[in-house]
Amino acid sequence: MSDVKSVWAGYRKRRREFQITLVAYIPLIILTMAFAKDFSVGIFVGYGLLIVLPLGIRHIFFSCPNCGKSIHFKAFANFLGRACSHCGIRIGEPLNRK
Ligand SMILES: [Zn+2]
Repeated sequence: MSDVKSVWAGYRKRRREFQITLVAYIPLIILTMAFAKDFSVGIFVGYGLLIVLPLGIRHIFFSCPNCGKSIHFKAFANFLGRACSHCGIRIGEPLNRK
């Protein structure tokens, strides 16, 4: 694995985990509604709070290998974007530390 790939591998893993969990959220709730006799909103909220939210926070607070700040933690930042919201480096690009 090249240097650039290994630097961004942790970020990509976190993003993939978060995206898969986010995409699985709605079908899981629909299946739960179909098969559970006592469906409550608590299941919907509980799944979101226990699984989706922690993975989202872990993804957003990943430290940018270029500037060291949380990669998507900034006001009005796109948390699914492809660039650091602080230094603007695109995910997967070689680092340009100064
Ligand atoms: Zn950065």
